[in-house]
Amino acid sequence: MLFKDLDIIQPIQKALKEEGYSKPTQIQAKSITPLLEGRDLLGCAQTGTGKTASFAIPILQQIYNEKKNSKGPKIIKAVILAPTRELAIQIEENFKAYSKYTNIKSLVIFGGVSQHPQTKALKEGVDILIATPGRMLDLYNQKFLKLNNVKYFVLDEADSMLDMGMIHDVKKIISFLPKERQNIFFSATMPKEISKLADSIFRNPVKVEVAPVSSTTETIKQSIYFVSKKEKKSLLIDLLKDKSMESVLVFSRTKHGANKITDDLMASSIKAAAIHGNKSQNARQLALKNFKDGKLRVLVATDIAARGIDIDELSHVINYDLPEVAETYVHRIGRTGRAGRSGVAIAFCSMEERDLHKSIEKLINKEIEVIDNHPFIGNSNDILETVKKDNRRNRNRNNASTNKDGKNKSCNRNRTNVRKWNSDSKRKTTNNKTDNK
Ligand code: AMP
Repeated sequence: MLFKDLDIIQPIQKALKEEGYSKPTQIQAKSITPLLEGRDLLGCAQTGTGKTASFAIPILQQIYNEKKNSKGPKIIKAVILAPTRELAIQIEENFKAYSKYTNIKSLVIFGGVSQHPQTKALKEGVDILIATPGRMLDLYNQKFLKLNNVKYFVLDEADSMLDMGMIHDVKKIISFLPKERQNIFFSATMPKEISKLADSIFRNPVKVEVAPVSSTTETIKQSIYFVSKKEKKSLLIDLLKDKSMESVLVFSRTKHGANKITDDLMASSIKAAAIHGNKSQNARQLALKNFKDGKLRVLVATDIAARGIDIDELSHVINYDLPEVAETYVHRIGRTGRAGRSGVAIAFCSMEERDLHKSIEKLINKEIEVIDNHPFIGNSNDILETVKKDNRRNRNRNNASTNKDGKNKSCNRNRTNVRKWNSDSKRKTTNNKTDNK
């Protein structure tokens, strides 16, 4: 299927071509037609699937067609709510790229920065407003926003809004919108509260779903290193000697941890910066820009700050700390291997994190390749032995169930894959490009 098969207008097709999109992703192929028909849509898709374009293209196309017949001032016709500033900025960049050959204007507003440039831009007129809920509510209360012409409403990453305690603000904003409008919700998971909210506003929505959160992209090569908490720093610095790790996103569980990792890397002359909630918005944007431009090799982030980071060439994701919630692992590694590209995801696991490792493997229904015998394994040999034993037991259990039923009940479960780590194989295990050759 091609974009032209979805009846996308020429100016948008031209922009998509320049973005290097040759054909629609799965979520786009499923969503664009019903959205162009004006249907409400409830989408279950995570970042990396191309979900932004799946709602941005039809919204732009509908506004484009309506604008042809009216020459009035620019008034807000679409509102897109996103949970974080980074994601909101990312969405706006996408809207801008796809609307390059139209005269549709979009604007992003978010908190943590002066409101003045945002209110100035609002006064000049915008067609599409992308916002985080807090700042949007604030500017609405100050009467900078007119919402009576809104015809399209998108709630992106609805589940994160719930997690981050924004759902009350979201409900308030919805109550200010005209009743007649197209509603679009995207969420990686569908907690009760979100489906209840959806039920209360949707009219006969189309439901689309791709890549459930438990499925990790096949194009991402995953591996795990067992290492003590103390040795993680040395392991990271050692891995980064590999120059093929060009753009590396490192996940830390805490803001303090992110700062500490960054300091350690800088002390070893590795260009790195941290982004998290305690950094000013300007510092976060600058770090992100430098990372995208290739001036910074390593970005160290907490989960919240990393939402919305969209870097085409991100080569590696490193889980310096394993996340408390297994689904977060899937979100994290989904930052690499985007839109069908390949990527590498490496996890560090200390003794204390062994249960987290187990729940990740349970969720993804797959054993992550273990990098054995690396120089920093130290006391972690004990965990390694336990992991091997557990894996053997699982395999025996699977084999037993295969023999009993004549077919393998857990066909998705990969065989244990423990690779020896030595100076020759070391680079290959972490370098996806080499592996693919
Ligand atoms: P998203 O899930 O919206 O965050 O998109 C993930 C990445 O896929 C972004 O870098 C998009 O620019 C890219 N992308 C979206 N649609 C396509 C497409 N049809 N072909 C290639 N890349 C795409």
